[in-house]
Amino acid sequence: MTNKEIPKDYDHKNEEKWQEKWEEDEIYKFIGDGTKPRYIIDTPPPYPTGLLHMGHILNWAYMDFNARYRREKGMDVLFPQGWDCHGLPTEVKVEETHNIKKNDVTRAEFRDMCTDLTSHNIEVMRGQMRAVGFSQDWSREYITMTPEYRRRTQLSFLKMYNQGLIYQGIHPVNWCPRCETAIAFAEVEYSNNNTFLNYVNFPPADVPEEVLVNVDGNSYVRYDDYSDKADASVPGVLIATTRPELMSACVAVVVHPDDERYNSLLGKYVEVPLSGQKVKIIADEEVDMEYGTGAVMICTFGDKTDVAWVNKHDLDVIEAISEEGILTEAAGRYEGMELQDAKKQTIEDLKSEGYLTKQEEVDQNLGQCWRCKTPIEILVKKQWFVAVTKMIDESKKASNEMHWVPEHMESRLLNWADSMEWDWCISRQRLFATPIPVWYCKDCGKVILPKEEQLPIDPTVDKPLEPCECGCSEFIGEEDVLDTWMDSSISPLSVADWPNPGWENIFPSNIRPQGHDIIRTWAFYTTLRCLALTGLKPFDEIVINGMVFGEDGYKMSKSRGNVTGPEEVIAEYGADSLRLWAANSVPGSDVAFDWKNIKHGYKFIRKFWNAFRFISMHIFDDESEEALKGDIDAIKANLNPMDTWIFAKLNKVNKIVDQAFFDYNYATVINTIEQFIWHDFCDEYIEAVKYRLYNDDIEDTSRIAAKYTLRTVIEDSLKLLAPIAPFFAEEVYQYFANEDSIHNALWPEIDPNLDSTKVEEDGDLVIELIGEVRRFKSASKIPLNVPVANVNVYLNEKTQDLKDVFEFYADDIKSTLKIQDFQIDSGKPEVYEKVIEIEPDMSKIGPSFKKNAGQVIEFIKSTNCDDIARQLEEKGEIAIADGVITEDFLNMKKEIVGASGKKVDILQSEKLGIIVEVIR
Ligand SMILES: [Zn+2]
Ligand SMILES: [Zn+2]
Repeated sequence: MTNKEIPKDYDHKNEEKWQEKWEEDEIYKFIGDGTKPRYIIDTPPPYPTGLLHMGHILNWAYMDFNARYRREKGMDVLFPQGWDCHGLPTEVKVEETHNIKKNDVTRAEFRDMCTDLTSHNIEVMRGQMRAVGFSQDWSREYITMTPEYRRRTQLSFLKMYNQGLIYQGIHPVNWCPRCETAIAFAEVEYSNNNTFLNYVNFPPADVPEEVLVNVDGNSYVRYDDYSDKADASVPGVLIATTRPELMSACVAVVVHPDDERYNSLLGKYVEVPLSGQKVKIIADEEVDMEYGTGAVMICTFGDKTDVAWVNKHDLDVIEAISEEGILTEAAGRYEGMELQDAKKQTIEDLKSEGYLTKQEEVDQNLGQCWRCKTPIEILVKKQWFVAVTKMIDESKKASNEMHWVPEHMESRLLNWADSMEWDWCISRQRLFATPIPVWYCKDCGKVILPKEEQLPIDPTVDKPLEPCECGCSEFIGEEDVLDTWMDSSISPLSVADWPNPGWENIFPSNIRPQGHDIIRTWAFYTTLRCLALTGLKPFDEIVINGMVFGEDGYKMSKSRGNVTGPEEVIAEYGADSLRLWAANSVPGSDVAFDWKNIKHGYKFIRKFWNAFRFISMHIFDDESEEALKGDIDAIKANLNPMDTWIFAKLNKVNKIVDQAFFDYNYATVINTIEQFIWHDFCDEYIEAVKYRLYNDDIEDTSRIAAKYTLRTVIEDSLKLLAPIAPFFAEEVYQYFANEDSIHNALWPEIDPNLDSTKVEEDGDLVIELIGEVRRFKSASKIPLNVPVANVNVYLNEKTQDLKDVFEFYADDIKSTLKIQDFQIDSGKPEVYEKVIEIEPDMSKIGPSFKKNAGQVIEFIKSTNCDDIARQLEEKGEIAIADGVITEDFLNMKKEIVGASGKKVDILQSEKLGIIVEVIR
């Protein structure tokens, strides 16, 4: 092969061709027969939005670097891809696209529309992933909406139900009024808002004994039971509340037992303004005496604390809010209003009826739905739960046994586990999701579960195989569906093909890569569920990636206009440049997108290509090809010092890069490779071997050794770079007449014999000397290939050791710099300044000598400049034309000459601590 066949410019448009070839050859296929050590990646299943964004790119690039690295290290890598399909966003999109509401069509029809949309989106995203060169084994793809996956999710439900870890219960749940579904605590986000703290007078209510007896068992007195209205203006207890619209659900007023302001009122009743029920004043140590007035109304349910108090004090429940976030009949005159409107109206009414004493602005930590940002409400619902609180300690222990990267991220999971008060609500009142596999007997209400072999089922369509114990054969199918985290939290089990035979060989996964925003959901739920189902932790290692910000440093968002799509980058600079950008970071840290960085990667690839192209004419020529067929050890025996130096460098780079890949420190990987290729190899080594490639009087063995070195260094460097820039690496590698893909090649061996710090250090000193002289040549506008007569290096006591080094490398130094005579001496060069030209300075001579100036000029021009210089040196002045001239009257051009009398240039190398004398 000759260089003629290698295009002048590297064309990233070839990337597509390689991607197709790799897929055709199935080079990423997981074998799983145990002949190689297995490496299992629990790839995150993204939500199929139909669009891969920069955050995905970063996350998947890390996974792909790792997968490719492990393959090169000889492992059998399982890099699967899943899709987490279910959820509200798809339902909303379908409603928009078809301009319908979900209830306009049958459940089955609606689900079909969701499935179609999801399939389409997955197809698009697969294409995008391929374009970036991600190396998933697509034969192991899983899709959570398929019957196969539903079966796994439902089976996991049955198993945990039978273990007593899933139960149905009436319990307060976080409710999103917009999504009209219960959500888990992990899905509640908190944001700071400004709101008003309203000070409302609850007037005293003197409830007669006989009424209290009658309502025995009730924790409050309904207005209907005792409608005697209190006077709004009589001070009772002042309540400070941010949610006056919930007053109709107030069932008690609570104060701190040590609060002297209210001691005498404990056990007495006050009247709730507007709604009129009479509630008792009770004590609880949880009350914050400093907040508001120190007296709090307990509503069912304003927040989590209300829920705790209602349970603790066995208070009654008033359901004042509906599932749609509308006030119910219990809210009396506010029935049918939306919460915001009801709040406004309540405040107005409190004012006009004389209850409101003052308002002040306060900050409020408001819980909202993580998907739609609607403020959540707390409702009491019959729901299904996973008994998380039973498994906190086990989950924390499993987390401790995992290797967290970066380490500090583990505290997010541990803190979350410690804050857990409620079980995980897993039922959702939606459609596009895995059905809860449960029926209820129509007669006795018993919960009936399907047989395992019956799965997957849709309880609204399918029927139990046997009648109920009570004899009844009619059943009501559960209409609620499962939280999508119930699907995705068994991902490592699905990857292992659980529960089919052999799954134990592929479980736990070696690594779970994921974002830090889903530690308390995905990481926590997976840990807990896999523990429950297998008794094992789900993965050995968990690596957390950062988020991607826009170029302006803000989170990428359409409204900010700072979104850059991966396709934009790939079209202009190729996928490898995008991947090089992603590599320039470490897990756990957020990264800003940066075009400058993309262009830098693009430039590096082209630098590498040009170097390759330049040397290709030597490393692929007949002599080279022939030599490679012969005795490699003989070639190696003829390596010259510079060859040994670059091999030692490469060996060290190999070690650093190997460790950095292992530590997921991709920034170190790419910076180390770049520094090596760009500087050590292209700038130094190639320059230093050129003379051996071109000179006819070089011995064949030396030339062949140089070609062998060039070829080996390029080939090995490609293998180090292949996980990061797979397309470029493949393209170049194929010129080496390799039958196989570089992605089937093994990691270059680290040669312990080459591990010589001394070789490296000595070579670096020589490189520094060469650089010093080369910089001088370039500054003096002497072309690099124009010879210089002499270069003399002067060493002192401290630098005496360099003598051996420079002598050892003398051939390379001389030949690279085109030095005719290279000497190493001690001491300092013998040099002096020599005046070579003297011109009169008219601006000084004119004014001083006036009409005699001509005489002075004549003298200067006619006298030998050596004579003038000597006279000035001796006396400091020369008498002439009734005056004296000094150096000030002359423009003197001097140069430095050496012992031989020839002009010399003196270079001082601070790095080496030496003086270099150059004679041109
Ligand atoms: Zn919502
Ligand atoms: Zn029954």
